[in-house]
Amino acid sequence: MENEKLSLLSKWKSRKKMTSGGFSILKAPQSRNYPLSRGQHRLYFLEQLYPNNPVYNSSEIYHFYGPLDIDRLRESLQAVLKVSDILRCSFHLRDGKPIQKVHDRVHLDIESIDLSNLAGPDMESRQEEILTSDSLAPFNLEHAPLLRIKILKRSSTEHILFITMHHIIMDKWSMDIFREQLTGYYKALPGEEALTDSKSKIQFTDYAYWQQSQEVDPQQLRYWKDQLSGEIPMLNLPTDFQMPLKPSFKGGSNVRDLPDKLSGQITDLSKKCKVTPYVFLLSAYYVLLHRYSGNCDILIGSPISTRNSRTLEKIIGFFDETIVLRTKFGPSLKFTELLELVRQTTMASFSNKDVPFDLLVKELNPERSASNNPFFRTMFIYHDVPPVPAFGDDIRLHYTFFNKGVSKFDLTLYVSYENGIFSTEFEYTTDLFKNATIENLQDHYRLLLEGIVEDPELTINKIPILTNKEKELFLGENVVVPGPYAGYNNIYEIFEDAVKNNPTELAIVFGEQSLTYAELNNRATEIANAILERTLGKNEIVGLHANRSAEMIAGLLGILKAGCAYLPIDTEYPEKRIIHVVEDSNVALILSDSKSITILDCGPREILNIDEIGFSTENPSIRPPSCGRDDLAYVIYTSGSTGKPKGVPVTHGNIINSTEGRLTFYRENPRAYLLMSSVSFDSSKAGIFWTLCTGGTLVVSENRLEQNIEKLGDVIASNSVTHTLMLPSLYKTVIEYSDLSKLSSLRTVIVAGEACTPAICATHFEKLPGVLLYNEYGPTEATVWAVAHKIESREQGVVVPIGKPVANAEVYLLDSNLEMVPLGAPGEIYIGGPGLAGRYINNHKLTKEAYIDHPFEKNSSGKLYKTGDLGRYNHAGDIEYLGRADEQVKIRGFRVELGEIEKILEEYKEVEKAIVLLQDPIKRNLAIDATTSETAQIIAYLERLDNEDQIDELLTSIRTLKEDEKMYLLQKLQ
Ligand code: AMP
Ligand code: MG
Repeated sequence: MENEKLSLLSKWKSRKKMTSGGFSILKAPQSRNYPLSRGQHRLYFLEQLYPNNPVYNSSEIYHFYGPLDIDRLRESLQAVLKVSDILRCSFHLRDGKPIQKVHDRVHLDIESIDLSNLAGPDMESRQEEILTSDSLAPFNLEHAPLLRIKILKRSSTEHILFITMHHIIMDKWSMDIFREQLTGYYKALPGEEALTDSKSKIQFTDYAYWQQSQEVDPQQLRYWKDQLSGEIPMLNLPTDFQMPLKPSFKGGSNVRDLPDKLSGQITDLSKKCKVTPYVFLLSAYYVLLHRYSGNCDILIGSPISTRNSRTLEKIIGFFDETIVLRTKFGPSLKFTELLELVRQTTMASFSNKDVPFDLLVKELNPERSASNNPFFRTMFIYHDVPPVPAFGDDIRLHYTFFNKGVSKFDLTLYVSYENGIFSTEFEYTTDLFKNATIENLQDHYRLLLEGIVEDPELTINKIPILTNKEKELFLGENVVVPGPYAGYNNIYEIFEDAVKNNPTELAIVFGEQSLTYAELNNRATEIANAILERTLGKNEIVGLHANRSAEMIAGLLGILKAGCAYLPIDTEYPEKRIIHVVEDSNVALILSDSKSITILDCGPREILNIDEIGFSTENPSIRPPSCGRDDLAYVIYTSGSTGKPKGVPVTHGNIINSTEGRLTFYRENPRAYLLMSSVSFDSSKAGIFWTLCTGGTLVVSENRLEQNIEKLGDVIASNSVTHTLMLPSLYKTVIEYSDLSKLSSLRTVIVAGEACTPAICATHFEKLPGVLLYNEYGPTEATVWAVAHKIESREQGVVVPIGKPVANAEVYLLDSNLEMVPLGAPGEIYIGGPGLAGRYINNHKLTKEAYIDHPFEKNSSGKLYKTGDLGRYNHAGDIEYLGRADEQVKIRGFRVELGEIEKILEEYKEVEKAIVLLQDPIKRNLAIDATTSETAQIIAYLERLDNEDQIDELLTSIRTLKEDEKMYLLQKLQ
């Protein structure tokens, strides 16, 4: 088929053939009551579902300049009503079925309002008020006419005619007929008789009657079943607000004209590509949606007229059907290839358009999302604006649609074409979007179009989309300025300088124990000397398997001083995990204490008991190997999806950079910092090094202090704790249940490790308004933190931002093709800069997957860490955390790869397949919400377990997870 036949226009041109092919509409039997057309049925149904809603109101505004004859205009309007039955119809339910009832006469009230005595701005605002409230006043479908008219006088030569109607009686095409009739009658009003004679024999009600008797073409139905069966992919449009349970249909609209030149280029290029502007602009819309959502299978709704017969050409009524345009494409398609695909989609969909939308919904029964349409969230409408009607030589007229305050869908793009210019209007639901977001959408659509006309052979993921403002925000400056620690080569030298400056200050407090800086340093030196005797020094990894205590911190510093890297081994880790960790990191020496040593069972390793390292009376001295920035400082193991935890080796350069960042980002260094996290979590490094490098007191919490909120308050009060960092979920409990007077020394609270919720912030500002609250984000691989945000009390959003890059981190939000996503669109968070550890221990494969070559840095060996986290920029230029792109979860601060548990479960011969999820069985939430919920659990679904005993056996043998973290494994037999 020739390309041309695609267009709506050519469809229209060929309608004659259809008529001669037996398609004709007969007069329905004489009656007052008629059935509804299929399209009307749909609107009627929506009206029942959402009564008293103006969403299907449609308004037009006519601005007349010149000597308008108002009486004549009124008579002409009444005449239009007389010739079209549908304009005199009301809608009722009869025997459970909706009908439309034709009235011979209806009273059309044409209200006149005189605004001419108001001054300029007052007139405008009054007019806006009248029009807006009129356009939003719902109709009662049982009362004809479903049409309201107002005439506003602005001066003797300036009038406004405002028409609002319910869509159930008229489509856009009908408005053209309405206008044509109105101008005709205005110019020459026929007498009663002539008017009656001019009435079309076939009326919309006849069409509705006829349509009812039409069978659905099984071939067409087949086409749609093929297109729309199975799971309908939800368009992952980023929104500003969460979807309400019930749509309000409240909306906004944002209109822009495309520049002349661009409009011309679009017309030319569509001609060259042998497609209509409709297909061209729709294809560009697909690109826009794809770049915002990442979806490659997108469904867009589009209205289509069912005026298939010439008889219907001049009839007013509602002939619109909705058609679903589903296009599947790869991101590396060229735009011209997409164009061809969309051309085929539209062609196929148009030629199967006679299956009513409602029937499809009924037949296919798609899973209804919260969105108000089962198949698509967004509409695309293209409209050639007809010429302005002529009311007379001395009357100039300007008319437009008046679209305010409502939105039928989540998002609709109307493109209209008038006088050689395309204009783009986004109608959006204010349930989901802010106007600022739609402004961006407009910018991005225009940029894409500019990129396309520049080079239509570009692949769709490469068409430029970023505005200059976005480029500035996303690329930043990334100049690493030398900070206060520029002169240091390793972290313990910084600590040693803090010792020199604060020898008698308290460095560590743990319960009743405390050590001054001088004492801590001496103890660390003694330990270091003992380690030096047993190791080769630089870069050797030494295990640290000790209970929380002041000694544990001294041990950690001792290992560093000996030039080695410490590997924290949590005393509560299961045996299997400990063995893996020490073997994988090739640890030969483990520093332990008398309490923990007994439970350490990890084969032939040398174990050094801190408690047996003697205290010297004099200041011990040491000659440590001098470590440089590239030497290892510590190693942290995190869960691995392959079934084995993986080691992140962090260098002195990494931790110096990370700590130095705090000195510039935070207003104050900690006087006293309460360390809650385990030293085997990277978040503990924030407090340990920040505090001990700046002369503050590190208050080490006793084991399970978080389970005793009252005691926690006491620890804060008795140590005058100024700073702390904890999981937001823990902080929530602390502020909810603490005696607030005990928290009065707090100055800075940092939440980190999992998503912070607005509710937590609200409680914070209510209870501790004077305390600064920060949200820190960062994976272990990027050394503690990479993005941070000072939360303000006035912030009120659905999400609490994680903020902007810190500590010289480069942060990018990228799509699957490593292109930066536009502002507001979700992208995976990639991190670069001096915080990157750069590899995993003994795991080249994982290293390669996680650290990719820097896509924006030419001729560089730079890397970016692929976090697996999803984020997006908000309008303030802050990043928001959106959850995970993969199977990693956080549960009570533990970073767990669900895949690791699945792999381990599947190692059991009884288990054929395991699926592990983080769920909140009480609140029934998944993933991101469950992360911060106290009742969340990790739940495993297992396939093929034969009996209860097997389950029990299995459960007792699974030792990967810590018992006391209350990670339950529930199972479901299949
Ligand atoms: P970890 O390596 O244990 O520090 O865990 C890093 C992961 O924790 C990140 O990749 C995120 O998934 C999550 N995470 C850390 N900080 C935050 C935060 N402030 N908000 C949301 N998620 C976070
Ligand atoms: Mg972290």
